Amino acid sequence: MYQGFDKETFKKSVIANARNLFRKTIDEVTPAQAYQAVAYAVKDVIIDEWIATQKEILKQDSKKLYYLSMEFLVGRYLGNNIISICAQKEVREVLEELGFDLNVIEDQERDPALGNGGLGRLAACFLDSLATLGYPAYGCGIRYRYGMFKQKIKDGFQVEVPDEWLKDGYPFEVRRAEYATEVKFGGYVDIQWDGHKNNFVQKGYQSVMAVPYDLPVVGYGNNVVDTLRIWDAQPVDSFNLSEFDRGNYNRAVEQENLAKNLVEVLYPNDNHYAGKELRLKQQYFFISASVQLAIRKFKENHNNIFELPDKVVFQMNDTHPTVAVPELMRILMDEEGLSWEEAWDITTRTCAYTNHTIMAEALEKWPIELFSRLLPRIYQIVEEINRRFVAEIQKKYPNDPGRVSRMAVIHDGQVRMAYMAIVGSFSVNGVARLHTEILEKQELRDFYEMMPQKFNNKTNGITQRRFLLHGDPLLADWVTEKVGDDWITNLSHIEKLAVYADDKKCQQEFMNIKYRNKVRLAKYIKEHNGIDVDPRSIFDVQVKRLHEYKRQLMNILHVMYLYNKLKDNPNMDMVPRTFIFGAKAAAGYKRAKLTIKLINSVADVINNDKSIGGKIKVVFIEDYRVSNAEMIFAAADVSEQISTASKEASGTGNMKFMLNGALTLGTMDGANVEIVEEVGKDNAFIFGMSSDEVIGYEKNGGYNPMDIFNNDQDIRRVLMQLINGYYAPQDTELFRDIYNSLLNTKSSDKADTYFILKDFRSYAEAHERIDQAYRDESWWAKAAILNVAHSGKFTSDRTIEEYVRDIWHLSKIHVSLDKAAADQE
Ligand SMILES: *Cc1c(COP(=O)(O)O)cnc(C)c1O
Repeated sequence: MYQGFDKETFKKSVIANARNLFRKTIDEVTPAQAYQAVAYAVKDVIIDEWIATQKEILKQDSKKLYYLSMEFLVGRYLGNNIISICAQKEVREVLEELGFDLNVIEDQERDPALGNGGLGRLAACFLDSLATLGYPAYGCGIRYRYGMFKQKIKDGFQVEVPDEWLKDGYPFEVRRAEYATEVKFGGYVDIQWDGHKNNFVQKGYQSVMAVPYDLPVVGYGNNVVDTLRIWDAQPVDSFNLSEFDRGNYNRAVEQENLAKNLVEVLYPNDNHYAGKELRLKQQYFFISASVQLAIRKFKENHNNIFELPDKVVFQMNDTHPTVAVPELMRILMDEEGLSWEEAWDITTRTCAYTNHTIMAEALEKWPIELFSRLLPRIYQIVEEINRRFVAEIQKKYPNDPGRVSRMAVIHDGQVRMAYMAIVGSFSVNGVARLHTEILEKQELRDFYEMMPQKFNNKTNGITQRRFLLHGDPLLADWVTEKVGDDWITNLSHIEKLAVYADDKKCQQEFMNIKYRNKVRLAKYIKEHNGIDVDPRSIFDVQVKRLHEYKRQLMNILHVMYLYNKLKDNPNMDMVPRTFIFGAKAAAGYKRAKLTIKLINSVADVINNDKSIGGKIKVVFIEDYRVSNAEMIFAAADVSEQISTASKEASGTGNMKFMLNGALTLGTMDGANVEIVEEVGKDNAFIFGMSSDEVIGYEKNGGYNPMDIFNNDQDIRRVLMQLINGYYAPQDTELFRDIYNSLLNTKSSDKADTYFILKDFRSYAEAHERIDQAYRDESWWAKAAILNVAHSGKFTSDRTIEEYVRDIWHLSKIHVSLDKAAADQE
């Protein structure tokens, strides 16, 4: 237990909070009010650690990581924080004494959904690991007033509802008005000669005040609390209006609106670039505020700016924070008075970049017109970065003019953000071995040739504290009973489970835990979907953002195929299967939303067909998010990781399933490759084309899905059911677009670009292997236990230690609480 935790004090604190917040005695509060009272009491416990940590960082003058990310998909705080202060048992007891159930209280919290999917969740896992390992770090992001939308399903269609996560206030945040920072947009740059050099002054701009809110990131059992700093935008105080604006009412109103709109909403696109002006404003807003504040903090106790790279590192999570490079240049030159060469040397030793995708539609490119209008001074700097870089290319490759157009930061009227990130960073990393190889050999080959020393791989990871200890308490306790609890902070210890994989009694215990987790999910499904699912069926799960490359379509087409087989032969011998989907589609992504409708239409037909004896059920879980994800992973038998090879940079859902003892049904893509390497090919179900084959077809052509349609009668039948009203009797044209995407374009090279038909037979055959394998319960239990046992590599603790060793070079801090220690005596 946490050394400073005292049950009686905690209880008094909860009761006092209920009085102060709601003017109620504790027996009168609603569960939602009880949540608030408990959350504030937990925050009270954390605050002392938080202060002590920050003091220790200052005392040690530690190097700090600033993890810059547009997204932090942190999930619920309360349960995780209680676990991190190691007081779960005590809090549960206190609440029981007060007449509450901790699980019910935890369920009152809205997920702070400040992210889309994997990229944002990765940032949250990284913060958890950084704090637990004791590294000084800030997450820097945006306090979106509305995070990721809430998904409702109406008539089978996705409907987006605003996510009002701040409606009742958020207990864990602390407003830090004293760190408010001005951020400027637009206007023009006035160049003034002072007799020695040119000074660049932005004039006629609009500005907003960036006001930070801090959220604690509590390390597990070590008293270390790092900070997630998210920025809100507020109108500048009218007394602070620049001279140009004084007395100009319209501009004042515009500035006020800018502040209002800036952080209003998270763009709901995952792996897709939309090019909206407001998005670039959001990017510069939180980057400028974060970088300015980092420099200000640095200068509080350092007077030599050249030491910056020894004390600060900025990690850019994808290209969204890339304006950090020119913003740092601006501060160093325009405010600190450094020369270009000096500023560039510091910048390129302070910034590092993580690449998250190779998909063309996700590559960020901003039109020069927009970029220079919004960020006039920053654009000047980008132009100079580009001019110097182009000169460098020409010097190194004098006889190869093609390289300049292939590699320039500014090209064809656009700023290529990934290229600016690479040029301005000392480190460029991919997020799984295969992904990094594809970057080096294909997508970024020119850059790799020119600066190979920058490139490195950091295979993603996940935190076992949230996704096993909190999400799957039954399995967590069982693991601890078998191998001790070292796995909580050192997941490699979980390897010791392997010796139990063959033990019949352990297999029984494991399957029993899985069964109970399936009962828990079945109950949730009954409550939310009204569908009865059999916890003895195979829970076959695909939960992740909806995207064509992730191929939920292939999954549901296979369900349609299986249903046809069952209709032809109702006595077909198969293990009952529950196909579970969960996915949000970007609000403007029509085909993705239509795929959700297709899944729900197929579910309606199949779930209501008595003739198949319940052998197949299909469930679409509404509003997939971190809180229900934790429960879903715990209940899964099969983990569907079926992206077109080469498209999924890493995936992290795959790792969460593995940790919870689900077997992977997957392609050799992203981190699946490394998962299979750890657990062994025999303990996973691998199918489909390799990334080399996919890339080969993309380069050379030669795939025509029509050949498959014409020659495979089962596939043909399934596709015809998309356009003959089989699943949409009211509107036979409803799914035409999906049908067309697979086949019906004039040029076949634009059809089935994700190779669904090409991989279909191999996928169906892998499903048959699963059906056979599940019949041997002992075999299945063994394979599942081995998945848990071999998941050690995929902790984000390992990922973070690699970033620290190769890129960040941070030192651990140790925090002891004198006050708490005194209380103990
Ligand atoms: C882990 C996670 C993701 C990422 O899943 P992938 O399968 O890797 O795409 C997305 N959303 C949530 C809520 C998650 O927890």
